[in-house]
Amino acid sequence: MSRKIAAAAIRGAHKIAKQAEEMIEKAIQEKGEDAAVEFPNTGYFIPIIYAMTGHEVRKLSDFRPVMEQIRDLLPPPVEERLWLPYLGPALDAGMATLFAEEIIEACKYLIGPNPVSDIWLGAADDVILRERGIQFVDGTAPGFAAIVGAAPDTETAVEIARKCQERSLYVFMCAHSNGTSFAKQLEEAGVQLGWDTRLVPFGPDITAAIYAAGFATRAALTFGGVQPGDFRRNLLYNKARVFAFVLALGEVTDEWYATAAGAINFGFPTIADSDIPQILPTGVCTYEHVVSNVPHDQIVEKAIEVRGLKIKVSEVPIPVAFSPAFEGERIRKEEMHVEFGGQRTPGFEWLTSLPIDQVEDGKVEVIGPDIDTVEEGGQLPLGITVEVAGRKMQPDFEPVLERQIHIFCNHAQGLWHMGQRDINWIRVSKDAYKAGFRLEHIGKILHAMLHEDFSSILDKVQVKIYTDEAKVKELREQARQVFQERDARLAGLTDDAVDVFYSCTLCQSFAPNHVCIITPQHPGLCGAYNWLDGRAAYEINPAGPNQPVQKGTAVDEKLGQWEKVNRFIVEKSQGAIERMSAYSMITDPMTSCGCFECISALLPSTNGIMIVPREYSEMTPCGMKFSTLAGTVGGGRQTPGFIGHSRQYIISPKFISADGGFQRIVWLPKMLKEDLHDVLVARAEELGLGGEAFLDKIADESVAATEEEVAEFLAKAEHPAIEMDPMF
Ligand code: SF4
Repeated sequence: MSRKIAAAAIRGAHKIAKQAEEMIEKAIQEKGEDAAVEFPNTGYFIPIIYAMTGHEVRKLSDFRPVMEQIRDLLPPPVEERLWLPYLGPALDAGMATLFAEEIIEACKYLIGPNPVSDIWLGAADDVILRERGIQFVDGTAPGFAAIVGAAPDTETAVEIARKCQERSLYVFMCAHSNGTSFAKQLEEAGVQLGWDTRLVPFGPDITAAIYAAGFATRAALTFGGVQPGDFRRNLLYNKARVFAFVLALGEVTDEWYATAAGAINFGFPTIADSDIPQILPTGVCTYEHVVSNVPHDQIVEKAIEVRGLKIKVSEVPIPVAFSPAFEGERIRKEEMHVEFGGQRTPGFEWLTSLPIDQVEDGKVEVIGPDIDTVEEGGQLPLGITVEVAGRKMQPDFEPVLERQIHIFCNHAQGLWHMGQRDINWIRVSKDAYKAGFRLEHIGKILHAMLHEDFSSILDKVQVKIYTDEAKVKELREQARQVFQERDARLAGLTDDAVDVFYSCTLCQSFAPNHVCIITPQHPGLCGAYNWLDGRAAYEINPAGPNQPVQKGTAVDEKLGQWEKVNRFIVEKSQGAIERMSAYSMITDPMTSCGCFECISALLPSTNGIMIVPREYSEMTPCGMKFSTLAGTVGGGRQTPGFIGHSRQYIISPKFISADGGFQRIVWLPKMLKEDLHDVLVARAEELGLGGEAFLDKIADESVAATEEEVAEFLAKAEHPAIEMDPMF
């Protein structure tokens, strides 16, 4: 290893450790040593320290033993005339640096300066981790670039950011150089920052690099089932599964070197634009560790090569960039050239299949005025019909493909899409319009992407785009008829009426033993896959993560156990899980990965269950916040008394039907009650529980914060769960 780098990294580590020590003392002086210390809404305490050492920092004095560990890890400064193999000590210095940086950032939350200010976002909470982590699971985000410092100018910063976005990478930004920062440069250029655009400004200091490392560390705990304290597995997990790298832009200080040494522990290499020594031999990282002097127009490509990332870029013939990284881009009214639908003008989108001789592949027709006929900020009606044909195409696939219109449109820079069917709402930005974007390009996107992702079932795609109001209204009526027929078909599908379920093992990349069994009445835990999606996905990619699972003979109809399903589970969980009940959270419940929308947890003294969605960050009556519960239940484990599931499953007739079903619900946070109000009332009516009256018998945080308070509330409200048989 380069002696110069090791010397600088170790020097930097000592400086940051000293800063951390001073920060702790200052915080203790101001707040007292029992002052609670935490990053907002996380169940992982101070995450890198927790993940690597298992130490739960709850109050300021808990940092003292961490400081001891930092001192133990810190190697002595490198001597001028002594040459040693420096890699080990430099890596230790790197880890000590990350611990010390976490202390500094955590203390800032207590005594300031607040990490969340101006453009800076500070720590990502567990809701963001799960929401974004799933993109690392399903491959829509291949990795992240941690950008430290600033580009030489704003244009270069924008170019580097765009290149990362076009490759669907997240960009995590920290530190500054030459009086500015990469994030500030993007802000100056009017680029939208935030989690939605994958351009995340963590903080203006190098210490904010720990938010990126902490994200990766928590991903291993959340999705990989890695236990706190198992630092070796955590680091290996990151090297194998989280494709991240550091881009160091500007003069590399001792503190930067120290932080980069911390990143190398995770297998994350550093690529620099300045002339620093390189570390080329492979070892901890997959390939080189430090590559320097890379020109700005090649730096993203070089980083991808050095990290060993495989990136698929879709070629779509439109005049704006196209990548999943643009899907969170918003187009405000003042940035918009034109909008369609959204209750402002009539609109719809409808995908239908036709006989093969009635579809001309690649044909895109615009029927009515195009967007160059409207004034800036104007509106037009819009009807999009996508006609597809293919030997393997089935009518049941139509809604699955139609839902892709939303996703594909949002991948185009400057095109924004919301809703579906006859409630769609689309905007085109002024920038996209100036770049030459016209209505035919919506057709070109849909043609290219439907072929790209669904070529195994589609042979031909043609698109018609209508802006003539009378025509849009006429076709919308036809489309509405079809939407109603589709809904009736899906509503009629039950578990008992089919012989085959579908598996999903997509989350095994993060939770190796997890298998979702998707049935017509039990969607995947993430809520993104129902039975029809599973079937379509299998047809599209027969070797993919969605496989048909024959039910076979029933082992126990009530529990929802079948012989062949159990056999499948044993095989796909690598023998870790022997049996799975589709309808019970007590007896052999389904495993939970980490992407579930909700968790149901037994509240033993109430004879019922509470349900908490991932968006609810407060304490729950079972004594755990969602994030702690998720850590207990997730990672591919089977945990009797707890299950992860989708929102949709709550109103399914099969919802924990073996354990008493829907009427076992005794506590829901208000937000979930409100979000699902109508369907909850409808389900309660269906069961003869009195609709709205039943909802009033379910406790929420405004009336019960503990299990005892829930029990008291239920007794007063005469909740039916009280009279039911015990759950176990
Ligand atoms: S269906 Fe299950 S395995 Fe598939 S992505 Fe969703 S949660 Fe993960």
